[in-house]
Parts: sequence; structure tokens; C-alpha cells
Amino acid sequence: MSSTLNSLASRAKAAVLHPYSDPLTEVEPLIMERGEGIRVWDSEGRSYIDAMAGLWCASLGFSEGRLAKAAYDQMVSLPYYHGFTGKSHVPMIELAERLLAMAPVPMGKVFFANSGSEANDTAIKLIWYYNNARGKPGKKKIIGRHRGYHGITLATTSVTGQVINHTSFDVPLNDRYLHVQTPDFYHAGLPGESEEDYATRCAQELENAILTAGPDTVAAMFMEPILGGGGLIVPPRTYYEKMQAVLRKYDVLVVADEVICGFGRTGNHWGSTTMGIQPDLLTCAKALTSGYLPLSALMISQEVVDGIASEAHRIGVLGHGFTYSGHPVPAAVALETLRIYDEIDIISHVRTVGSHLFEQLNARVGSHPLVGQVRGAGLLAGFEIVADKDSHKNFEPSRKVGPTMVGLCQKHGLIIRACPNDAIVMSPPLVITESEVDQVVDKFVAALNDLEATTA
Ligand code: PLP
Repeated sequence: MSSTLNSLASRAKAAVLHPYSDPLTEVEPLIMERGEGIRVWDSEGRSYIDAMAGLWCASLGFSEGRLAKAAYDQMVSLPYYHGFTGKSHVPMIELAERLLAMAPVPMGKVFFANSGSEANDTAIKLIWYYNNARGKPGKKKIIGRHRGYHGITLATTSVTGQVINHTSFDVPLNDRYLHVQTPDFYHAGLPGESEEDYATRCAQELENAILTAGPDTVAAMFMEPILGGGGLIVPPRTYYEKMQAVLRKYDVLVVADEVICGFGRTGNHWGSTTMGIQPDLLTCAKALTSGYLPLSALMISQEVVDGIASEAHRIGVLGHGFTYSGHPVPAAVALETLRIYDEIDIISHVRTVGSHLFEQLNARVGSHPLVGQVRGAGLLAGFEIVADKDSHKNFEPSRKVGPTMVGLCQKHGLIIRACPNDAIVMSPPLVITESEVDQVVDKFVAALNDLEATTA
């Protein structure tokens, strides 16, 4: 190990409070230095295929020069402006129009923020505002799902259903947050139960939760079309149809969290289209700028916009907005990102390469003794590492099989991610080619074989 790495790694550990890391662990962080295509290089010169596209975001890979140029051009014409107090600017206007034109269902307006968490937090605040506007001040509870992920601000972490995001943070914040079950047929389906019957059971549980809370107190439900950070859970057939019927019955708004699934990841522009969700509000981020700059967006139906507008008019102003809402530089980068997606027909590309990925995974990974299930859509793949394929039983959490697999993949030059219950996920840059997919699968199988040797 070179002294440079030693000093950078120890400086990193001394100075940075790293997210999602154990600050007292002896494990040294990899210091990433550069990227090209689907690969990144660390400070030791080792290369990795990043099959997570960073944090599910670098959809155009790590060296798209057009995005750098779009940022530069915007920087030298109008490097900053905002949309407060009667101002606006061209990149924000054009991006809002572009997003409205591609929305999965008709939407009224777009609000911009900087992160997925901020877009979801804004959705929660505006839903409360809207229900005050329409004379339903008691209708404020937000439903999330166990293992769902919607961010880490105080309100969004309360909707998030993951144990590590709640423990010792004193959230959920108050009694405005409810959680229903993870739609995980693989583990929660009863013997002999069909996917459809399991979906009916999930919808009944939702209805019971709304009735117990009181329908007049429940405002909205947040749903990732496919649960990402929770372990790439693909809800069972008919689930969304049945869940949305219950939500509509009790006048509960549907919020699609497309922060991971948006912009082609599942083989359509939106995960909502892939999974059959008709949202009232939709949030997106990550691949909106291919992760190159922070930007998120919240699309809001015309009906909800009308309610918000009347309340803001009554008060005199909409008292919400971030200094960097719709910042012109990320907005220009987003416009260029969306242009590139169109030019390279990203949707057809994801469908073709995604089919190849799942053919390879089903043939070479699904048959492996440690893999209980291969699941996903488009270029979003998940695997269940199991101790027993018949009973779907995972290994004891104390064995840390998921993190071990991440380390083994890293040794083979592949970056993947472990989620709760040893679910392993992959979300490679959308521009990955079929031959690069083969390299990913080769490395993954080699790591699985190593894992088998350690778990035997
Ligand atoms: N929603 C989903 C589905 C996510 O996966 C994430 C982050 O991974 C977020 C929201 C929060 O986004 P951010 O980390 O940009 O705040």
C-alpha cells in the first residue's frame, strides 16, 4: 500500500464523518480519483466497474464531456439565479416544461430542489398545505413501507422504513407517520399463496391501517415503484392496482418516489409506467443530471397545484423554497442529460441490454447454490443471498454475508451494494454495453464462488 493511500485514507478517516460508515472501524475508505465510461479508478490505480453507477445515479457513466460543457457554458452566462419573489430563468423554465411533457400522467407544475430528500420533504409539506387549503386540517398522516427509502430529512426519514435510519435519531418524528409491510412475496408469501392473493392481503392490511388511523387523518402514501435501498423488492403482480384502489377510496394521495426508478432505469421513462402507478405527485433526482450535479424535482397534479395556489394566494405568498431551487447550472446539465437520453434512445438501449443482463443473471447467477432469487427490471437487478434455497432463509445477520460479498466483488474489481437481509443490488450506468454486462457477471460469479468457500 503506498504512502499516498495511507495518508489520504487516514486523513479521510480523521476529517470526514462519512455517511453510512462505521466511524470507528479499521476499514479504510477507497479513495476514488477518476472515472471513465462505467469504470472508476482509486488512488492506487486499481480500476473497478461501478455496477452501482455511484449511488444509482451516474446513468451516463463517469466521463460524459457534454455535461461538463453544459455546466461551463451556463456558468459563464448566468452562473446563479433563483425563482423567488417574481424572478425566473430559462434553464429552470425549459426543464420544467421538459419534465411536464414526459410525465407518466398529466401533471400541473414542477418544484425544484437539490436532493431526493428535499423533493420528498417538499412533497410532504405541500400535501399538508393542500389539505389545509381544502379544509381538511386533520388529514396529515403519511404512509410509508417497511424497508422503503425516501430520504433522511426529519420528515422523510420518518417515512423511510429502515431500522438504521430510525435508530437513535428519535424518528419517526411524531404520530403523523405509518408504515405498512414490505411487498416481499419471496419472504412473506404463505405456502401455496399466489402473488395475486398476497397482493390482496397487502391491500387489506393497508385498508385496515387507514381505518384504524381514521381515513380523515391519512393524507398520502409514498411508494418507490421498485424498492431500491430496501433490497430491490419488486412488488407482486396486481399489488399497485389493489393498493391504489384502497388509497383512492379514502382520498389518500399517491406519491411516486422515482428517485431511483426515473429516467429509464426500469426500461421505461418512469418506474410508475413499468409498475402501473398513477401518481398525484412524483419526485425524481439522481439520473436527472446523471448525478453530475445535485438537482431534484417534484411534479404535482393540477388539482393539487390549484389547492396550493389558492392557499398561497390567501396567505399572500408560497412560503417555501431553497436558495438553490432550480439553480441554472444543474438545470442546464439536466437539460443536456435529457437531450442525450433522447439522442441515444436510452429506453431501447436499457431494454436490450437489460434483457441480456437478466438472461445472463438467470443462467449463471440464479443457478448458484447461494442465490435464492434474481429479480428486477431494466438495468436494476437484485439477488437474495440465502442459506437455504428451499425455505428462502437468509444467513444469520451476524455473519454479515452481504457486506462480505461486497468486499469480495471489490477484490474482483466490481462495485455492488448490500442492502438489509443480505439482498445484493446492481444498478449500473445505463450506457453499459452487452460485453460490459458479461464482464460484470463474470466478476460477480467469481465473487459468489469465493463467498461459497467462506460460508461452507
Ligand atoms: N428516494 C429514494 C428512492 C432514494 O433511493 C433516495 C436516495 O438514495 C432518496 C429518496 C433520497 O435522495 P437524496 O439522497 O438525494 O436525498
